Amino acid sequence: MTQRLYYTEPYRTTFDATVVNVESVDGRWHVTLDQTAFYPASGGQPFDTGTLGGAAVSDVIDREDGTIAHLVSGPLKVGEVVNGEIDWGRRFDHMQQHTGQHVLSAAFDRLFGVRTESFHMGQLSATIDLAREVTAAEVAKAEDDANRVVWEDRPVVVRFATAEEAAAMPLRKESGRTGSLRLIDVQDYDLSACGGTHVERTGAIGVIAIGGWEKFRGGSRIEFLCGTRALQRFRLWRDSLAAMQKHLSVPPVEMAAAIDRMQEESKGLQRTIRGFQEKLAAHEAAALLAKGSTTIVEALEGWDAQGLKAIAAAATAAEPAAVVALFTTTTPALVVVARGPNANVDAGAVLKQLTAKFGGKGGGKPDLAQGGGLTGNSLELIDAAKALLRSHP
Ligand SMILES: [Zn+2]
Repeated sequence: MTQRLYYTEPYRTTFDATVVNVESVDGRWHVTLDQTAFYPASGGQPFDTGTLGGAAVSDVIDREDGTIAHLVSGPLKVGEVVNGEIDWGRRFDHMQQHTGQHVLSAAFDRLFGVRTESFHMGQLSATIDLAREVTAAEVAKAEDDANRVVWEDRPVVVRFATAEEAAAMPLRKESGRTGSLRLIDVQDYDLSACGGTHVERTGAIGVIAIGGWEKFRGGSRIEFLCGTRALQRFRLWRDSLAAMQKHLSVPPVEMAAAIDRMQEESKGLQRTIRGFQEKLAAHEAAALLAKGSTTIVEALEGWDAQGLKAIAAAATAAEPAAVVALFTTTTPALVVVARGPNANVDAGAVLKQLTAKFGGKGGGKPDLAQGGGLTGNSLELIDAAKALLRSHP
């Protein structure tokens, strides 16, 4: 068993300990000590990092046998007394999130009887999964109540109790463990069995901000940020809002409406462009037919697939015997193959052979096929298409 200093002294950042065991596993050293302030990954809270005897600690594992293994970069000697130092910035952040989670979960539980099914602390934000779906109004109320408790700066006390004693207590979250239980008591608000590290008073959480929520497995997944993380998210959103504001010249509250308007305008413009494109396509088709051949193979600059289709449709409508293969001049190229009702070329088959030779993909019917991703310059593509159309009379 490793004595867990963080159980009773969560604010302790350095300690001395005796090395009990050292094993080499996959090029890393697993070191166990008689006691440690390093928190191992468990209960939704990530492990601590720091140094042990000057070597970097990259992982801390809670083992089945009650010992804690520290993964360190260099070997330590059994029997040696080493100094451990934990990365306090990382640990304190975890403490803010973890106590914040207890308070937030308690708020949903107390206000709406909604249980927290699980808790996960990620690198940038943490989530709780609630047993049922919650409404925006419920989320706001729980957020308000949780922050009221934060700002009342209530004591957070660690208590130990036997399983029998705990059974008689109003625990929000019971433990499956037997023997002595560790309880986290947020004064007059929440009592939960938990092995994690917590701030001494709720005020140290700073703020509990809900970043968003979504439906998840019949319930809700709530993303939340406490303390420093809330500030970091605020800065991120502030900077991206400021960047958007520069483009849109409207205050943040009007941004969604401004984007809606822009999208509507953009749709209108696209309709106008399509209209012009179709008119221009008819002229382009006439110009191509005026060259005198019913076999038209060209690479056309400035047209997209929609435009090439419009030209091909106009050409085959005006000249029922026409066969048309039109490429964009982009790399890779798009292609449209079409035939008029009096021509018996299989456009789909021609396209297949083009993509077999030049790569890309596409498909279509005997009268119209379209593809993209063809690599090859315009001259190569035109030569190949001409040869194919000649061999498909
Ligand atoms: Zn906990």
